[in-house]
Amino acid sequence: MESRDIRHKKAMERRKALVDEKVAEATTEKGILIVLTGNGKGKSSSGFGSVIRCLGHGYNAGIVQFIKGTWDCGERNFIEQRCPEVPYHVMGSGFTWETQNRERDIAAAEQAWAKAEELLRDDSLHLVLLDELTYVLKYGWIEQQRIFDAIANRPAEMSVIVTGRAASKALREMADTVAEVGDEKHAFRAGIKARKGVDW
Ligand code: ATP
Ligand code: MG
Repeated sequence: MESRDIRHKKAMERRKALVDEKVAEATTEKGILIVLTGNGKGKSSSGFGSVIRCLGHGYNAGIVQFIKGTWDCGERNFIEQRCPEVPYHVMGSGFTWETQNRERDIAAAEQAWAKAEELLRDDSLHLVLLDELTYVLKYGWIEQQRIFDAIANRPAEMSVIVTGRAASKALREMADTVAEVGDEKHAFRAGIKARKGVDW
């Protein structure tokens, strides 16, 4: 009988051949649209992780953060202080249930979206992160077609990451990569406070 080591080696060789075949098949070079959605933790942190990857290769990235305008957050502090060349726009007002003022939300979203449109036209950017954009669509602050047009007409080499819960079917269909982050467990529900430097 074959030893466990030999069986493992054979299985790994078969897997490697399959992976190599898939890698050889992926030949298209183009920027992609990634949608990170779902109720679990890890959407924005993944988006910001990709921004770091991008900067680490010497490319430029731009960020618009919708919704959390008034909140303190580590990623914003870091990028504003250490990467001042990275365009970083934050939507003016906080969550809609905090401001309770739809007119003001729309005005803030309009301003933030105008900045996003500017970034989506900038062919020096390898990656644009539109953090929590799904809420702008969900609340109807900006017309969906206007958002989709700007994303669709971006420079060919640019990738875009959209994060936020409840991404619409239309947005998912438009995307090249969609990840639904599942909410299996969250410390918050066990009464543990959001951790500075981990959750924000
Ligand atoms: P993160 O910014 O940590 O990657 P996220 O972008 O996936 O989280 P959001 O819906 O934007 O999640 O929520 C932002 C904040 O809420 C974060 O502090 C996060 O830890 C927390 N959070 C995320 N998912 C849950 C959850 N299922 N229950 C409670 N709090 C959550
Ligand atoms: Mg988020």
